[in-house]
Amino acid sequence: MADYYKILGVEKGASEEEIKKAYRKLAHKYHPDKEGGDEEKFKEINEAYQVLSDKTKRGQYDQFGQTFEGAGGSGGFSGFGGFGQGGFGGFSGASGWEDVFSDIFGNRSAGFHQEAGRDIQADIEITFKEMVEGVKRNIKLYKNVKCEVCDGSGGAPGAKEETCKDCNGSGKIRKSIRTILGTIAQESVCDRCKGRGRVYTEKCKRCQGEGIHKEEKNIVVDIPAGISSGQTISVRGEGEAGKHGAPNGDLFINVHIRKHDKFARDEENNIISEEEISFAQAALGDKIEIETIEGKVSMKIPAGTQNGEVFRIRNMGVPFLRGGGRGHHLVKIRVVVPKKLSRREKELIGELRDLEK
Ligand SMILES: [Zn+2]
Ligand SMILES: [Zn+2]
Repeated sequence: MADYYKILGVEKGASEEEIKKAYRKLAHKYHPDKEGGDEEKFKEINEAYQVLSDKTKRGQYDQFGQTFEGAGGSGGFSGFGGFGQGGFGGFSGASGWEDVFSDIFGNRSAGFHQEAGRDIQADIEITFKEMVEGVKRNIKLYKNVKCEVCDGSGGAPGAKEETCKDCNGSGKIRKSIRTILGTIAQESVCDRCKGRGRVYTEKCKRCQGEGIHKEEKNIVVDIPAGISSGQTISVRGEGEAGKHGAPNGDLFINVHIRKHDKFARDEENNIISEEEISFAQAALGDKIEIETIEGKVSMKIPAGTQNGEVFRIRNMGVPFLRGGGRGHHLVKIRVVVPKKLSRREKELIGELRDLEK
């Protein structure tokens, strides 16, 4: 899979604003209608932006190196032809475009659909061991949920629906706005019916006609083994409920891993630890106990082991998020030179020195 960050020329940790800026610059440069434009390159840039500008897709891409179908509005770019012929015909679904061009064309247009509920961001901390083994976490959220009295409709039980008079049932209001590219017709969501085209004769009393209300909710989240600190898990539909039956937002959980006193992790998913041995153990060899994430394991130190030498215990590292398998446990040996010696030790080491002369 292509490196989307490289394509847009941004760092992995780039902010939404930086990504948008980079995209805008490149899209301008390579637009096929322009002199020196490059259609292939333009397509590539758009593909990268589609993924990196969408929190869900970007999360998946960072985590798994790919994105999955059904995540986010995937209308695609089939409607490119419409651009430049005056009108928004081709843009529906390509949410990235709406964002980038919103400051040219005015507010988020092309949205006569109802506005979805807001996304929720949450942070959780897990231990190093939980990171290695994977863990289920209970997250408590105080958020908007669908009103159970009216089932999200906002209408009082038994109330009748009638056509919205403001928009004549279309759910949208049309107006002309002037932009640097000329006058264009813009459509926005009808304020009265919120895009539904119909209104209830009486509002639901539980939710004041909004279709939602605040409630505390518990959500169990599966944190996969091998996740890295700073990665985000996205849970579709667990954000705030949308008003008047509009779709829910998403939940994004930023995972942080607590530092372990004994173990660290490298980029190849190896667990790294240090063990101290004496000069005699290093010179003569020995069998020592190594602490691993799964408990104590005995390991043979060969005679003549050097300070800083690394030994590998296979398949005792961090599981790989993709493709299965796991890294190794790497033990770095530290040969400790004694700071205090008994009289007898002094004698023996002195003898050793004399032998080596
Ligand atoms: Zn209600
Ligand atoms: Zn209306």
